[in-house]
Amino acid sequence: MPQLSVTKIFEFAASHFLTKYHGKCENLHGHNYKLEVSVIGEIGEDDLVFDFVELKNIVKEKILSQLDHTHLNEKFENPSAEVIAVWVWEQLKEDLDLHEIKLWETSTCFVTYRGK
Ligand SMILES: [Zn+2]
Repeated sequence: MPQLSVTKIFEFAASHFLTKYHGKCENLHGHNYKLEVSVIGEIGEDDLVFDFVELKNIVKEKILSQLDHTHLNEKFENPSAEVIAVWVWEQLKEDLDLHEIKLWETSTCFVTYRGK
C-alpha cells in the first residue's frame, strides 16, 4: 500500500525572548508562528490516511491551547523554535503517527523535527 504524509497548517501568536543568545532576539518580542504537523500512514478503507478534522482537533487541544497568546518564557526556559518544535512532537507522539513537525518563526525561518 502506498504511504503518504498528510499535513495541516496552524498559526499561533506568542511572545518570547531568548536567554542564551546575544543579539536582537534576547529582547522581548512576538511572532506569528506557523506550525505544520505531518502524519504518515497508508490509505485506509475510507481512502484517507488521516482525517484532517481529527488532526485539527488534536493539535488545537494539545498545542494551540497551550501556546496561543502566551508568553513562551513562562513555559520554556529558552523558547527557541527548536525547543518548541521538539516539545510539540513530544505532546503529539502518543496520539499521532508523526512524520514531521515544522515550526516557522518568520516567513523565511523555520525548523524541522522528525523525532530523532
Ligand atoms: Zn523570536
